[in-house]
Amino acid sequence: MSAPTSYPSRNFIAGEWRAAISGATFAKLAPTSGAVLAEVANSSAADVDAAVAAARVQFDGGEWSRLPGAERGRLLNKLADLLARDAERFAHILAMEQGRPLMEMRMLDLPMSIDTLRYFAGWADKLEGRQIPTAGFMGRPTLNYTIREAIGVAALIVPWNAPLMIGIWKLAPALAAGCTVVLKPSEDAPLALTALAGLAAEAGFPAGVFNLVNGMGPEAGATLVKHPGVDKISFTGSTEVGRIIAREAAPLFKRLTLELGGKAPQIICADANLDAAIMGVAMGLFVNQGQTCAAGTRILVHRSRYDDVVGALAGAAKSVTLGDPLDANTRMGALINARHRDRVAALIQSGIAEGAALVAGGEALPENGFFVRPTVFAGGTPQMRIMREEIFGPVGVVVPFDSDEEAVQLANDTPFGLSASLWTQDIARAHTLAPKLRVGAVAINGWSPLDARLPWGGYKDSGVGRDLSRTALDAYTEEKVVSVVM
Ligand code: NAD
Repeated sequence: MSAPTSYPSRNFIAGEWRAAISGATFAKLAPTSGAVLAEVANSSAADVDAAVAAARVQFDGGEWSRLPGAERGRLLNKLADLLARDAERFAHILAMEQGRPLMEMRMLDLPMSIDTLRYFAGWADKLEGRQIPTAGFMGRPTLNYTIREAIGVAALIVPWNAPLMIGIWKLAPALAAGCTVVLKPSEDAPLALTALAGLAAEAGFPAGVFNLVNGMGPEAGATLVKHPGVDKISFTGSTEVGRIIAREAAPLFKRLTLELGGKAPQIICADANLDAAIMGVAMGLFVNQGQTCAAGTRILVHRSRYDDVVGALAGAAKSVTLGDPLDANTRMGALINARHRDRVAALIQSGIAEGAALVAGGEALPENGFFVRPTVFAGGTPQMRIMREEIFGPVGVVVPFDSDEEAVQLANDTPFGLSASLWTQDIARAHTLAPKLRVGAVAINGWSPLDARLPWGGYKDSGVGRDLSRTALDAYTEEKVVSVVM
């Protein structure tokens, strides 16, 4: 299969493909060439109103939420089947819109997207309540039980860095729980999710269950967040926009899940298996051009292994082949857009200016597309911008430590708290350190082994709530208690 020649790029509302009411579009560019891939619907408030109305009519009419859970599960499984059938097409769309190696889509994003749909399909008929014994009420016995009800209309706002996978992390539990949704893809990666709406139509979801509006964050996204017809917002994106959304959603007490930025430490202890650690750390640093929330950009290394790690990571960075995402030899693609490339390049310059030692990479490439060479700094100190700010590019900083206590202190010295990895062969050390790390996920001797069954989310400025796992399902429901005084 080669690159697609056209992409679905309209809105999907009430079971129909619709252009933006104003007729406006925006150009989605290919990160590796700068060429226009598609002209995408640029929605305004009127389009968002129409999408919310469709979701509201479907939810309030009750067809979807009252459908037996097994039937909702069947449709989610059908969507998974269709995505599996079209996996190569979706891998190509993602590679083109993200400028990211096709191989990563085949190995990571497609399998996880399909698995997540199936996992939540399995929960759709298991939304069980509890029976709770009490001492009774005014001398009379009571029977108390809880039921879980779908929250209502869920707005799903998705970033560009793993659009299909993260969109499905939200879509699958929302639909399994009986919510109806309005999904807003990122303006930087709208194409795979828009194509997914086509598969939802083919699967036979009732009109108004899955609506999708394309457009800009500050207009389409902001309208969705403030919309009185929306009951729940699940957002993945930057901490900065997460703060705006939390503020906007508060007056209406909307239910919120916020998956925000990260600045993950990767701790290499003195007793680590260094070959395995280098491979895992390099993956955590460079996969998706470093554009992952779990990117392990602060590499904390016991001083006894520091020189070895600096040398090996510099070697790993220099060996990465950058290029066309569809070329089988490519190991790294381009950053998502020119603005982001320039921001990453400026942060690299700040590292040099603040005195970190550049041991690999360091430059943006002048050719077409938005490429930055994988970059490694040694000698980082906690106050440097490259140690404090989320870079969201292929840039790591290696820092020595002398004791486990110092490693924990350095690891926690950040406003973020999404994830961490820890490399040690000492089982007691691993389980002593893991609880001390103020993050939502600790990987021991691996980098970020995401799975639909495991909760994913952050402490501190990395967010509120969790995607994935049973926890995410609950986040699309309200718990109601019914008490019978007998
Ligand atoms: P972003 O915050 O710029 O945008 C995310 C989404 O929000 C987009 O769809 C955008 O259009 C929309 N948006 C922007 N302004 C808005 C507003 N005022 N109101 C409503 N919606 C608005 O983030 P991004 O650049 O697309 O993604 C990168 C960020 O996402 C990084 O910080 C990364 O760490 C984070 N991220 C977190 C996780 C996680 O699980 N915690 C996963 C992936 C990415």
